[in-house]
Amino acid sequence: MICCEKCFKDPEIKGIIKCLKQEGNCGTCHRVNVQIYDTEKGSDLVESFIKLLSIYTPRDSLPDDFPKERLSLLKDISHDKWNIFNISSEQIYN
Ligand SMILES: [Zn+2]
Repeated sequence: MICCEKCFKDPEIKGIIKCLKQEGNCGTCHRVNVQIYDTEKGSDLVESFIKLLSIYTPRDSLPDDFPKERLSLLKDISHDKWNIFNISSEQIYN
């Protein structure tokens, strides 16, 4: 998957992508001639996101009596609360 520095608001993530100096077209936000990050080639961002996501519990692993009103979709939490991404929650899901 390809994303780009413009997909993010977070300066640290943007810096990681810019340091790679790889220019191309973004498959996530569809901007052209931007600094891109290919998740098939790089592992820095992937590992960071795996660590970040590990603080959440998948629905299937929650106890049966967990209140349904407290469930949230990760794409919505990451869009509304993290302030990391500069793209829609649907694009974050991808
Ligand atoms: Zn992008």
